[in-house]
Amino acid sequence: MQDYRRKLIFEKSSEGRSAFNLYQKEEPVSIPKTFLRKEPMGLPQVSELEVIRHYVALAHSNFSIEKGLYPLGSCTMKYNPKINDQMACLPGFANLHPYAPTSLTQGALKIFHELERWLCELSGMHAVTLIPAAGAQGEYTGLRLIRAYHKDHGLNKNTVLIPDSAHGTNPASAALCGYEIKKIPSNKDGILDPKDVEKLLTDDTAAIMITNPNTLGLFEENIGEIAKLLHAKDAFLYCDGANFNALMGHTLVSKMGVDVIQFNLHKTFSTPHGGGGPGAGPVGVVQKLEPYLPTPRVQKEKDEFIWKEFPKSIGHIKAFYGNFGVLVRAYTYMCALGKEGILKASQMAVLNANIIKTKLKSAYHLPYDHKPCMHEVVFTDKKQSQTGVKTLDIAKRLMDYGFHPPTVYFPLIVQGAMMIEPTETEPPEEIDRFCDAMLAIAKEAETDPQKVKTAPHTTPVARVDEVKAARQLILKYQTKISS
Ligand SMILES: *Cc1c(COP(=O)(O)O)cnc(C)c1O
Repeated sequence: MQDYRRKLIFEKSSEGRSAFNLYQKEEPVSIPKTFLRKEPMGLPQVSELEVIRHYVALAHSNFSIEKGLYPLGSCTMKYNPKINDQMACLPGFANLHPYAPTSLTQGALKIFHELERWLCELSGMHAVTLIPAAGAQGEYTGLRLIRAYHKDHGLNKNTVLIPDSAHGTNPASAALCGYEIKKIPSNKDGILDPKDVEKLLTDDTAAIMITNPNTLGLFEENIGEIAKLLHAKDAFLYCDGANFNALMGHTLVSKMGVDVIQFNLHKTFSTPHGGGGPGAGPVGVVQKLEPYLPTPRVQKEKDEFIWKEFPKSIGHIKAFYGNFGVLVRAYTYMCALGKEGILKASQMAVLNANIIKTKLKSAYHLPYDHKPCMHEVVFTDKKQSQTGVKTLDIAKRLMDYGFHPPTVYFPLIVQGAMMIEPTETEPPEEIDRFCDAMLAIAKEAETDPQKVKTAPHTTPVARVDEVKAARQLILKYQTKISS
C-alpha cells in the first residue's frame, strides 16, 4: 500500500489544481516583459483539503504530551493546561509591542513584578530577573553575576567546580564565562561528598554548580555543608534549578545556602518546550548579588511600575524582557495552582516516580537504590544486555507501545542509563500502562531479543543513522526537473 502521508507536498502536486481561485488579470501590472519569469514558480499545486490533510498528518506523526506519556528525565515534560495559552493569547498581551510606553503596559509589568515575587517566595531568594530565555542562558547569566561580584571586590577567581553527573549546559555555560572547569566525582550513593569538594576547593574557586535533586533523581543531602565550605572561600553556590519540580513548595533553596538559582519555567511551571516552543530561565539571587542583575529591571515606585537601569548591572543579556508569552503561561499556571497546588504537584511528581521505581526494579537494574528517588528514577540496561538488548533498543521499542522514550545514556556516569520522569500530570492508569509496556519489553528482551533490537516497527521511519542524520542534513527538496 502506498503511504499517502509520507509524500512531500510537492509530490502531491497536480497541474492546475489550486487552493483558491482569485480573479487574475491577463498580465501582471507594470513589470516589463523581459523581467517576468519564464517558468512557473514550482510551488505545489494542491487543493485546500489536500493542504489541510497533509499538515494534519504531519502533526499527527509528531509525538507530544497530548498524545501520551513523555517521560524524558530532567526535561519535565508535563501537560500544559490550555488556560495558559488562552491567557498568553489575550489580545492585550499577544499584541503588546516591547517598545510600548510604560503608561500603556502597566498590566504586563505587574505580571513581571508578581512573577518575580512568586519565584522569590518559592525559593527564598532576594531578587529575580526574568530576562534569560532558557535554562542555559540562566546559568550563563548567574555565572556572569558571580564574575561581576568577584571583579567588583578585587577577587581573581577562575575556576568553577561541577559534579560529574551535571547537565552538559553547566560546563558549557561556565566555559562561556571564561572559567576553567574542575570535575567533582559523585560518591557511591550518587551524591556529592563534602570531602571531595574540599579537596578541589582553592582560592581560585569562583563557584560550584549543583543540580538539586541531581540528575540521578537524588537529593544532594550535603548541600548545606558544601555551601559553608564555599562561603568560607568567598565562592558561591550556584544551583541548577531545572529539577525544581521536586522541591517547589517543600523547601527554600536559600536554606541550603544557595546564592544563585535558575528556574526553568518551561519545565517546572508548565509551558510547552522542546519542539513545542521557547523557554524561560529566570535567575534568583541573594542580596549581595542583586546589584549585578541584568537590566532593565521592573520596579514599583509609588503605584506605578517602571523600567530601571542599575549602575553595577552586567547590562543587557537579551533583547527586551524575557520571553513574554512563556512568562504569562507560567504566571497563569502558578495562579491556577496556588501555593497548596504547587506543593501537591511536586508531591505527586515524586510519588509517580517512586511508583515506577518500585514497579520496574525487579525487571531493570537500578544503580542507586539506597533510598526513595525524587521526581525521576534512573535504570540501566545491565540485565537486558545479557541478550544483547541495549538501552537504545528499549527506547525504540517503547515507541511501538505508544510512549515517548525516556532520556537515554544520561547522566554519563551511569552506563546504559534510562532516566524516567513521569511528572505529576499523569494519572495512575497511564503510569501503570507505561510500566506494563516496560515489563513487556523486558520479557521480550529474554524471549525475542531480535524484535527489540530491530524496533521500532510501527513508526513512519524505523532506525535512522543518527550520526549521519545530525551531520549530513538534507534540508532542500530536489525537484525532479533539475535532474
Ligand atoms: C534542561 C536542563 C538544563 C538546560 O535548560 P534549557 O532550558 O534546555 O537551556 C540545565 N540543567 C538541567 C539539569 C536540565 O534538565
